[in-house]
Amino acid sequence: SVVLGIETSCDDTGCAVVDSTGSILGESLYSQTALHIRYGGVNPVFAHELHRNNIESAVSDALRNAGKNIKDIDAIAVTTRPGLLLSLQVGAKYARYLCRIHNKPMIPIHHMEAHALVARMYHKVQFPFLVLLISGGHCLLALVKDVDNFELLGKSIDNAPGEVLDKVARRMKLRNKPEYSKISGGQAIELAAQRSTNLSQFEFPLPLAKYRDCNFSFSGLKDSTIRKLEEREMEHNVMGDELIPEVYDLCAAFQLAVAEHIAHRTHRAMLYCEKYKLIDPKNRVVVVSGGVACNNFIFKSIEHVGSEMGYKTYRPPHNVCTDNGVMIAWNGIEKLRKQIDIRTDFSLKEVEPEAPLGKDSINKVE
Ligand code: ATP
Ligand code: FE
Repeated sequence: SVVLGIETSCDDTGCAVVDSTGSILGESLYSQTALHIRYGGVNPVFAHELHRNNIESAVSDALRNAGKNIKDIDAIAVTTRPGLLLSLQVGAKYARYLCRIHNKPMIPIHHMEAHALVARMYHKVQFPFLVLLISGGHCLLALVKDVDNFELLGKSIDNAPGEVLDKVARRMKLRNKPEYSKISGGQAIELAAQRSTNLSQFEFPLPLAKYRDCNFSFSGLKDSTIRKLEEREMEHNVMGDELIPEVYDLCAAFQLAVAEHIAHRTHRAMLYCEKYKLIDPKNRVVVVSGGVACNNFIFKSIEHVGSEMGYKTYRPPHNVCTDNGVMIAWNGIEKLRKQIDIRTDFSLKEVEPEAPLGKDSINKVE
C-alpha cells in the first residue's frame, strides 16, 4: 500500500508519499526555521499563516515527486496531536477535505509516536524497544511495546533540550556570525563547540544526580550557562553584538553537560528495563530521534552508554529526526498494516494540542 503523510504540528509543513516497503516515493518540506531564528522563536499566528499558504503546494509537490495521483494513494495519515492548535488544524482540515472528496481512509497520527516509529523504516528495530525523544518541545524516554502501545518512563520536568540550546545560542549572540545565522540554535552550538580549545574552564553539576528515576531537567544548565556568559561579558567589558572570546569553550562545556545528563538518564532507563526484564536480552535497542538527535556529540554519548549496556543505538537520518512528512506517512503504513485507527467515516475527532505519550507510568520508575 501507499500512504500520503501530512505534518503541520509546529512550524514546518511536511508531506511525503511512502509505501509499505518503507520506500520514500516523494516528499516535500516547507521549513520556517530560518524565519523563526530571526524572530527568536515560533510565533503561532505566523506559523498558522505559513501552513495555510503552503499546505496545498506541499501536498501536490510530494505527489508530483512520487509520480502519483491522489487516486493511487491508499490512505492519508495526518498529525492530529500534540502541537500548536492552529497549526494542527491546517493539516487535519486539509487531510479531511482530501479524504472526503477522493473517498480515502484517514489515519490520525501522534507526532511523538511518529518520531519514534520511523526508526523502523531504516533499521532492524523490533518491539519492544527503548526510545529517547529529544527535540524542541519534548524530552521523553519511553518503552515502545507496539505501534499503538507506548509506556512513558521519564520526561523533562522543565524545559526541552532543543528549547534550551536555542535560548542559550540566542543569548550568546551566535546568530551574529554569518555561518550560524541561518541554522537552528542547537546546530549552531554543535558547530561552535567544535572550535573549542579549553572547555575544562567551565564546569556544570549533573542535574537530578540524586534521583533514581528517568526524568530530565535542563533549566538549571541553561541558567548556569547564561550566568557564566554574563560573568565573562562583564570581565571582558563586552557590549552590544560582540561575542565573548571564550564563546566556543562555553558552547562545548554546555553541550557536554547536556549530553552527560541525557546519557545518564538513558542509562537509568536501561537499568530499569533490565531490572524488570522489559527488553529482550537478544534484542536490546535504543532509538534516538527528534531534532536534537541530529547532534553527533550527544548521539555518541548515548551510543557509548548503550554499548556498555549491550544496546544497539539507532537514529533516523538527520532530515527525518527533525519534523517531516515521512515519519507521518510511515506511521500510517504501520497503522494500516495492523488496521489501527483507520477512519472511513471522516468523523475524526478534533485535533488535540495536549496529548501525553503513553500511559503515565513515571512513578513506577526507580
Ligand atoms: P517537538 O517534536 O517536540 O514538537 P519540534 O518539532 O520543534 O519539537 P524538532 O523539529 O524535532 O522539534 O527539533 C527542533 C530542535 O532541534 C530545535 O530546538 C533545534 O535547535 C534542535 N536541533 C537541530 N539540530 C541540532 C543539532 N545539530 N544539535 C542540537 N540540537 C539541534
Ligand atoms: Fe517534532
